Amino acid sequence: MSPFSIFLPFLLYLSFGVSSVPIGSRSILRALGDPDPPDAAIDLNTTSFDEVLRDSPASFAIVEYFAHWCPACRNYKPQYEKVARIFNGADAAHPGIIIMARVDCALKVTFFSLVLYLDFHSVKRCCVLKLLTLPSPQSQINIKLCDRFSVGHYPMLLWGPPAKFASGGWEPKKEKSEILAIDDGRTSERLLEWINKKMGSSYSLDDEKYENENLPLNASDPGQIARALYDVEEATWSAFDIIFEHKMIKSETRDPLIRFLQLLVAHHPSRRCRKGSAEILLNFDDLWPSDLWPVNIEKNATYHGNDAFKGFQICGKEIPRGYWIFCRGSKNETRGYSCGLWVLLHSLSVRLEDGESHIAFTAICDFIHNFFICQECRRHFYEMCSTVSYPFNKTSQFALWLWDTHNKVNERLKKEEESLGTGDPKFPKMLWPPKQLCPSCYRSLKKKSDGTSQVEWNLDAVFKFLVGYYGNMLVSSYKDNGLLGVGGNERSLVDDMATSTSAVAVPVGAALGIALASCAFGALACVWRSQQKNRKYFYQLHSLKNI
Ligand SMILES: Cc1cc2nc3c(=O)[nH]c(=O)nc-3n(C[C@H](O)[C@H](O)[C@H](O)COP(=O)(O)OP(=O)(O)OC[C@H]3O[C@@H](n4cnc5c(N)ncnc54)[C@H](O)[C@@H]3O)c2cc1C
Repeated sequence: MSPFSIFLPFLLYLSFGVSSVPIGSRSILRALGDPDPPDAAIDLNTTSFDEVLRDSPASFAIVEYFAHWCPACRNYKPQYEKVARIFNGADAAHPGIIIMARVDCALKVTFFSLVLYLDFHSVKRCCVLKLLTLPSPQSQINIKLCDRFSVGHYPMLLWGPPAKFASGGWEPKKEKSEILAIDDGRTSERLLEWINKKMGSSYSLDDEKYENENLPLNASDPGQIARALYDVEEATWSAFDIIFEHKMIKSETRDPLIRFLQLLVAHHPSRRCRKGSAEILLNFDDLWPSDLWPVNIEKNATYHGNDAFKGFQICGKEIPRGYWIFCRGSKNETRGYSCGLWVLLHSLSVRLEDGESHIAFTAICDFIHNFFICQECRRHFYEMCSTVSYPFNKTSQFALWLWDTHNKVNERLKKEEESLGTGDPKFPKMLWPPKQLCPSCYRSLKKKSDGTSQVEWNLDAVFKFLVGYYGNMLVSSYKDNGLLGVGGNERSLVDDMATSTSAVAVPVGAALGIALASCAFGALACVWRSQQKNRKYFYQLHSLKNI
């Protein structure tokens, strides 16, 4: 007797897509005969397009719309790649300036539906739950995206700010559009010529990493600090990567790390780093339990949590990018992480409430002392922390102390770097902020006989400047993109989780995933809050003498 099946589509109905060519990678035709190195231009599709362009640190984007079956597109690919190689990725000569992407307008996927049904067997008088996969006809997943940009021929190149691509579209006849058609990019040379004309730059196809003259030199330019947020994220990832990689969480370093994480969760300027820090904190007691060993037995014992979190992307899946923007040196070995760490510390200092300033001071001193892997730096910094004999009870006191401490480091290093020739020639150390960046910070400026400067600072003006620079300006580019919570305009939690769900064309599944993910983060925030309340050291001063 044939079994009798009852379909229960209302129990579970998931649909997912399988591409006829791999999604997110190059198409079949274009892949034929390709050399081995991975593509520099980023393949985007209907799911990733808005997210990738919205989150990009680049000032401009070029998008090539093509069809994988088009022979002219296949021939054009090496030309486009030559240009993409100098702008995209960690090995690029000019990273973070232009993002070069492509969309295959003809990309097809097959959708499958998963249907859960009750299979009823009349002889056995029982039923079994079964899963059925139903294929649907293939559909062109990027077609609406390409229509949004009025793609009328292949290949077609558009230029504009990444955020304008993410939020909008393009029409050929529309006036005053920030997105422009690139009318002459048929060869790599002509495309680069078009870019150079547009940007007033002199990029060359032969430019190599760290061997070019196109570095944005004035890191004190107020406009550039807006791009430092990407470096703050990179530095945060680097800091924790070093901690986990070197198994630095031990019985005696456990508490300092918790206090620093608490600071990051509350005040990190990047929302995604705040979220990642909360995730570590939530798992902290399980992975690094405080009662693992009595103090007198194994003081230096490390925990398995160091391995569990190795490779953890504390600031989301885009980080690390593998390059620095604001903190990029003119040589491979200069600037980078330590610059990003300073910017992180300053940006934390201006975000504190008055009542938190001394806790933050001790948390930062402890963190540098225990986790900054540069021996000389941590020793000097600790000495400067130890000279503080009074509690900070105002945000301004701590922010100014950190600024002054950084200037003392600058003064010391200026001499060292000048005599040893070890500094970055394009970023010499200086008393900061320079007068052109903040004229009101200076009451007077005298040159001493030994050539050094003596400044009488206007501390109120300096604090005001620090708040503007490391507070509002640092997040301004993110605010435009709606990514961060400082100063409002925060993207909703559901949106945020949606961006971390990178499945392609999963209409019902994605919705389910997003709903689950947002619930999960809501729950995570709740559990975390109650855990923090129970932590005995939360809001307790940690004596510097113990570090
Ligand atoms: C806590 C700490 C201690 C360190 N101690 C040492 C040490 O003892 N010896 C050593 O060789 N290196 C030390 N370093 C590294 C060193 O300070 C620099 O980070 C490194 O040389 C790179 O310099 P940079 O040109 O990128 O500018 P950085 O000094 O890293 O500064 C980064 C950016 O911060 C801004 N800035 C500069 N000064 C100030 C200020 N006073 N207040 C606010 N913002 C400012 C500027 O825009 C600058 O580009 C330390 C780093 C840190 C984070």
